[in-house]
Amino acid sequence: MMSEFASTQLIEVTYLIATALFILSLKWMSSPATARRGVWAGEFGMLLAVAGTLLHRGIVDYKWLAAALVLGTIIGVPLGKVAMTAVPQRTALSHAFGALCVTLVGTAEFYLRAPSVPPFMMAVLGMEVILGSLTFTGSLMAAGKLQEVLPQRPITYKGQNFVNLGVLVIAVIVAIILVLHPERVYLYPLIVILPLIFGVLMIIPIGGADMPTVISLLNSYAGLSAAAMGFVLDNKLLIIAGALDGASGFILSVNMSKAMNRSFSNVLFGAFGQEQASAAAGAETRAVRSASAEEAASILAAANKVVIVPGYGMAVSQAQHKVRELYDALTKRGVDVRFGIHPVAGRMPGHMNVLLAEADIPYDKLMEMDDANGDFAQTDVALVIGANDVTNPAARTDASSPIYGMPILDVDKARTVMVIKRGMSAGFAGIDNPLYYSDKTLMLFGDAKSFVGSIVREISGGSGH
Ligand code: NDP
Repeated sequence: MMSEFASTQLIEVTYLIATALFILSLKWMSSPATARRGVWAGEFGMLLAVAGTLLHRGIVDYKWLAAALVLGTIIGVPLGKVAMTAVPQRTALSHAFGALCVTLVGTAEFYLRAPSVPPFMMAVLGMEVILGSLTFTGSLMAAGKLQEVLPQRPITYKGQNFVNLGVLVIAVIVAIILVLHPERVYLYPLIVILPLIFGVLMIIPIGGADMPTVISLLNSYAGLSAAAMGFVLDNKLLIIAGALDGASGFILSVNMSKAMNRSFSNVLFGAFGQEQASAAAGAETRAVRSASAEEAASILAAANKVVIVPGYGMAVSQAQHKVRELYDALTKRGVDVRFGIHPVAGRMPGHMNVLLAEADIPYDKLMEMDDANGDFAQTDVALVIGANDVTNPAARTDASSPIYGMPILDVDKARTVMVIKRGMSAGFAGIDNPLYYSDKTLMLFGDAKSFVGSIVREISGGSGH
């Protein structure tokens, strides 16, 4: 058996390496070229963190841990296999588990120490438990809304924000009383129950469209509660990892809000989904021009410069491999093909990057929104594959549109626009897209995967330019 000193040293070293790996992981995940390495670094860091923790001499019974490991594996393995489009709700479930764990640990620590909990300890414990409880129910609600187990529609009533905030404020006041009078042990359940209620109330008025941003914010809360737990348990790794999680979750929420042109307060208190429903009702019934795969193929083959704009529909139909074939077929003919990536195309940040990487599209062919927008005026064909909202010019021109002000990909500046989608249905924001009625737009009606496949066949069978 290792001496106490040696095992403490080993734990410290393991934690230090894990910390470095977490930081590198975040750094690497910020670029598609290094993202895979980032994921590995994060996973390995977490493995080290778990292994290091298992060396703790405070652990009295490994049998319980083994049971937890089996249970966690049984739940975790199927969760890892969900479809890419369900990743936001899967992520919410992970936050719910993490937050529940934080709350339970906090509760155990309180009752182990009560009635004499030192003030600093009680303050961080209060923060841990309040954030943990509200993140638990909030994340479950968010996952339920995204999975459509719960209604996506925001439910609002008069004085709602006042009621919600009131519940949270009471919980905070109770926590402060406990800091001053930890012997009032009977008050403790309130700092768990009230935030649990607040978590539910907080999500009720938020529409499905804003849910991924909210999930990212809940990620941040889960991180902060874990950091607070680090103070309670005197565990530096938890403090650092929690702080990294809290900060990165917050930055991601801010970036997502910006990309959708929503302010934070608007996401949290705005009930966005209701506006969308009414806007969808007024959809246009004007005529559009459509074209066949053969026509589309000949236009593409005759172009010098093509920008492909993928969106949620490409993800739904899993068309990325066919898109790769199209890229190959056109590139072989000397056509310059690149991809315009909108930061919130699809249903989660980086959604398009992940799919295109899966199909081995070279990273240097991917353009971020600003670069792509500088390019459309010199582009012969903008080929939109299953994207809708992120190309909607109403965001630039129609002050009454719910997405007015959202930065979009200016595909309408290209000489010709071709849009692959199954019909005239709206996208996530539930609004009509004037792009489809433009003289320079050709609608290519069909499922993305099969339509792109037909275009590839036409190009490969036909002659070059
Ligand atoms: P949209 O949701 O706007 O549009 C997707 C389009 O794809 C639909 O209009 C649909 O039309 C079409 N489609 C669906 N299935 C298929 C298929 N099998 N084949 C071909 N087309 C298909 O997607 P965008 O990517 O343009 O925009 C993303 C939206 O999601 C934005 O509003 C964004 O704000 C929001 N959002 C994004 C988040 C993110 O992090 N990425 C997070 C939260 C929200 P049809 O039914 O006619 O085929």
